[in-house]
Amino acid sequence: MKQNYSYFTHLECPKCKEEYDGSTATHLCVCGSPLLARYDLQRLKEHWSIEQLKTREPTLWRYHEVLPVLSPANRVSLGEGMTPLVHMETLGKTYELPNLYMKDEGLLPTGSFKARGAAVGVSKAKEVGVQTLAMPTNGNAGAAWALYASRAGIQAHIVMPLQTPEITKREVIAAGGTLSLIDGLIHDAGHAVSEASKEHGWYNVSTLKEPYRIEGKKTMGYEIFEQYGYHLPDVILYPTGGGVGLIGIYKAFLELKTLGWIPNDATLPRLVAVQSETCAPIVKAYEQRKTHAEVWENAETIAFGINVPKAIGDFLVLEAIYETNGCALAVTDDELLAEQKQVAEREGNWICPEGGATFAAAKKLRQSGWIQEDEHVLCLNTGMGIKYPDTVTYHDEDYLKHSITIKH
Ligand SMILES: *Cc1c(COP(=O)(O)O)cnc(C)c1O
Repeated sequence: MKQNYSYFTHLECPKCKEEYDGSTATHLCVCGSPLLARYDLQRLKEHWSIEQLKTREPTLWRYHEVLPVLSPANRVSLGEGMTPLVHMETLGKTYELPNLYMKDEGLLPTGSFKARGAAVGVSKAKEVGVQTLAMPTNGNAGAAWALYASRAGIQAHIVMPLQTPEITKREVIAAGGTLSLIDGLIHDAGHAVSEASKEHGWYNVSTLKEPYRIEGKKTMGYEIFEQYGYHLPDVILYPTGGGVGLIGIYKAFLELKTLGWIPNDATLPRLVAVQSETCAPIVKAYEQRKTHAEVWENAETIAFGINVPKAIGDFLVLEAIYETNGCALAVTDDELLAEQKQVAEREGNWICPEGGATFAAAKKLRQSGWIQEDEHVLCLNTGMGIKYPDTVTYHDEDYLKHSITIKH
């Protein structure tokens, strides 16, 4: 039998199980829930092996069978994927975690892991004939989607809160996208995009209202599996905003079980959602053992990517945490900045503040005994530090006295 490029079959509602064929631009289920992409994994199982993967290109397209893009001609790629898995040996010693690792998503095109969602989302948008897309964003997603959209020849309208990091605004402008600033938070930007999309017929690619970005982000889960030598770590810490990455990684692990690459009875990594104490709706819901989160009032954190007061996929994030015996933990901005600095000083990598939050959480969970010394712990660094120059401050006069004069 002929092998397919993709084994995508349909979109399914995780709440009411309604199905959609996904051949045209599709958003939420009629019941209001986000939709998840489904594949014919039973048939794929007969055609696909780990052995085949080994010779493939080191991008996320190596998993094209479990991505929704049906034709390789519609691929919009900048070479995203297969980011390094780095052993954090020196820092691990200070935490008493000899098996501390970081997956460095900062090395992706556009400087953040939003490139994964944008690559797959924009490719699928191209495939279903989208010409104009619109999105609300805290910065990195807008930058990534604007840049990938320009590569696809799609017009992008990006709406951001005023306080969004400067660099991401400039990325949108550089890409030729239109940028609008809102004096408010991401959900205010979301309302503006909803209204404008309805009025102008734009394709609204808000987090999880567009069902394919999660498919791009789930490839982190497949990569983790390959990079750990076809095993998985014990704990994975993820800086959680909308939670797409966490939902995606969990989805990948379930698919790997169905494919038979992970034994069906295997214990999955405990998934940890890390948030800032000043914007922690998932943590609050987790502590109250709830299945949905409430809106977090007056959200504010320097880790802008996780400044999301209400996530539409909150129930999926919480399910992934409960099902894996994970947890949700908040850290302060001071704690996450301190660990961001530690990573640069001890390991030579200037990570983003959101990434710093995962290290702060790993440290705390080790101290409380929730993580054991011999466990394999993976922190996801979701972006590069140089996109956030303001997280390091200094005064010229403190450094002038150290300057040396070079004699000719
Ligand atoms: C968007 C973003 C996050 C959060 O990702 P979600 O999938 O929305 O949870 C974390 N870190 C950075 C750098 C981001 O840009």
